[in-house]
Parts: sequence; structure tokens; C-alpha cells
Amino acid sequence: SATRLGEVTVATVALKDVTKVFPDGTVAVDNISLDVNDGEFMVLLGPSGCGKSTVLRMVAGLEQPSSGVILLDNELVNDLSPRDRRIAMVFQDFALYPHMTVGENIAFPLRLSGVEEAIRTERVADVANALGIGDVLGRKPGQLSGGQRQRVAMGRAIIRRPNLFLMDEPLSNLDSGLRAELRAEISGLVRELGVTTIYVTHDQAEALTMADRVAIMRKGVLQDVGTPTQVYGRPATLYVAAFLGNPRMNLLEASVYVHLDRHVALHLGDQVLRLPWEDIRARAVARYHGERIVVGMRAEALAPVAPDASGEVLRGRIRYLEHHGHESLAFVDIGATAIVVDELGGQAAGRARRSAGSGRFSRAVQRFIGRAAVPT
Ligand code: ATP
Repeated sequence: SATRLGEVTVATVALKDVTKVFPDGTVAVDNISLDVNDGEFMVLLGPSGCGKSTVLRMVAGLEQPSSGVILLDNELVNDLSPRDRRIAMVFQDFALYPHMTVGENIAFPLRLSGVEEAIRTERVADVANALGIGDVLGRKPGQLSGGQRQRVAMGRAIIRRPNLFLMDEPLSNLDSGLRAELRAEISGLVRELGVTTIYVTHDQAEALTMADRVAIMRKGVLQDVGTPTQVYGRPATLYVAAFLGNPRMNLLEASVYVHLDRHVALHLGDQVLRLPWEDIRARAVARYHGERIVVGMRAEALAPVAPDASGEVLRGRIRYLEHHGHESLAFVDIGATAIVVDELGGQAAGRARRSAGSGRFSRAVQRFIGRAAVPT
């Protein structure tokens, strides 16, 4: 795709059955296959030590896979040196040269590859203006804010017109306000450039807001890949279900019974949820007849209802409420386990709030409108 800042050629990335075992026996990456499409913003998400950086370093050519293959634009690059991959990396420590000006820092990769000065100056101006740092080109990194330094690092990465951006926690050293601001800026800029990007983070808010697709890793194993909506709404594994979202998804053990009058009963402790056959959730769990499964319900998919309500309701005792400004969470005991419920506005919520406050209505009824049923 053509852009203001220069031509970008197609860059797809494919990992096929890639494993990385370090000499000390650590299996950092365990048989991962992943396709990144042209122009896609792919986020690798997972806790510290799950192998995200190792994946990135293998794509960059800084580490060799122990087995499996890595393809860039359908070409095997296992043995291609990093400098031949037209890849730009941005790390959390920006590593700007402190004695050089902003302009010199951004121009540095061009100087290394012998681009003449007039062209350097022009390209630096283009990139700096696109990043909103055109007016600080003469300053030294020490005279910049954290956000400006980050933009300089981005500028230095962009100026080589890479096919692929690899970013490893580029925002983790910044305070949270600035992080949120730069999140939007980086993903906006990268999309405008049309450059395929692999972005590593352990911050799920970053992943869910920035990504076209998210790849979630745990202990070297790829758990799930999908759009933010897919991995949040239909997590592929229990790990992902519990890992994504704040508050965490409620995960409840249930037994499944398919009844001949064409409904499915979910037994949660001593409570029974009846799902009519017409409900796609009923058909989704019907194949687990007689088995125990784990049912996932997001807090925001649950709402308080009147004590005499019927239908898909769970009965519980509200333990306490937590107010977060834009939402209130109710922590509810429903027998053996506790669940979190997003308290929506309206009458029912008001009733629940009163009951928690006074303790006079010891039983609140929760309506089940959650969907994902995750097999154990
Ligand atoms: P973080 O977010 O903390 O950087 P990560 O998900 O990026 O974590 P990696 O840096 O890829 O994780 O590391 C994955 C695993 O491989 C970890 O257990 C780490 O200790 C191990 N590891 C990384 N580099 C080496 C090495 N050179 N030798 C041995 N083990 C290594």
C-alpha cells in the first residue's frame, strides 16, 4: 500500500511449528504456528516469561528456531541475517543516542546506509511531522518528555521504510496516562503506514485496544488467536477465559442434562438453569449431556432482577458492592461459589443496592444471560 511516507511492500509473516529450546533446556516457545497478514496489527499477549519476546526475536532473526520454519512473504528466512529482513524493531528502552539531536537520531539509520544529506533531511522532516515532533528536531533526548522520546524512537524505526515493525513493550516505561494516549497514536500511525506489525505486551488493555488480532501465549504455547471481540467473547481455552477481562469472567462448574421435553438443564450447585432448545447455548452444551463443564459468564452479561422473577435466574446473596465510577460490581454468593455481577442502572439495580446496604433482602435473583460454555 502506498503512503505519505513511502512505499511499503507486502509483508506477511508465517510461523510453522516453531519451537525454541535454549541451551539450558528452557522451552521458551513450544510448537507455535501463526500467520500474520499483510498490514495487520498482531499483538502477542501473555504473562511475563511466556515466550513473547522470543517469538519476536526469532522473527527478527536475533534468535534461531530450534525447529520449525519462519516465512516472510512466503520465503523461508530461518538463515537470513537480521539486517537483510527489512524489519524495524522498537523496544521499551528507546536507546536514543543522548549526544545526538532528535533529527540526528531519526536520520541515523539512513546515515548508516549512506543516504545523502539532502534526502535525509527531507525524510526526517516528513517523519517528524507525521509524528508531531517536527518542532523539537534540534533538541537532545534529555530535553524531551517520555512521550516525545517514544515518538523519536518510532521515527527512527519508520524512516527505514520497513516491511515489518516488531515492537516489544514499547510503552511499558511510560506512566498510564501517556500510555493510553500513545496506544491510540501508535496504532493509528502504523495503520496509516500500512506496515505489518507484531507488538508484544503483557497488558491486556493495550492488546484489546490496539490489535487487529491478538495471539495469547502461556508457557510457550499459543492458547488462542482472534480479534479482540473473539478472544474476549469466545475464549478458546479456560486459561484465556480467566486471563482476559477485568473483572475476570465468572467460571462455574455445571452438570449438563438434556431433557426429552427439549430443554437443557445446567445444574450449578443446587440451582438449575433451564435453557430452551431454541437457545443456541442449549445446543452448544447438549453434547456434554451427563458431563461436568465449566460455564463462563461475563459480569456485564448478568444483571440483578426482582426477587420474584422467573426464567433464567440464579439466586444469590449479595456480599458487597464495589463502585468504579462508570460501573458498579456486585459480588454475589450463589451457593458454593461467588460471582461478580455488573450492576446495571434501573429499578432492579436499585433494589439490589438497597438490599446490600441494609441486608434486609437477603436474597437477590440474578438473571443469567451469559453465553460462553467452556468445556473443561
Ligand atoms: P517478558 O514479558 O518478561 O519479557 P516474555 O514472554 O517475553 O517475557 P521471553 O523473554 O520470550 O518471555 O522468555 C521465555 C522464556 O525463555 C523464559 O522462561 C525465559 O527465562 C527464557 N529465556 C529467554 N532467553 C533465554 C536464554 N537466552 N537462555 C535461557 N532461557 C531464556
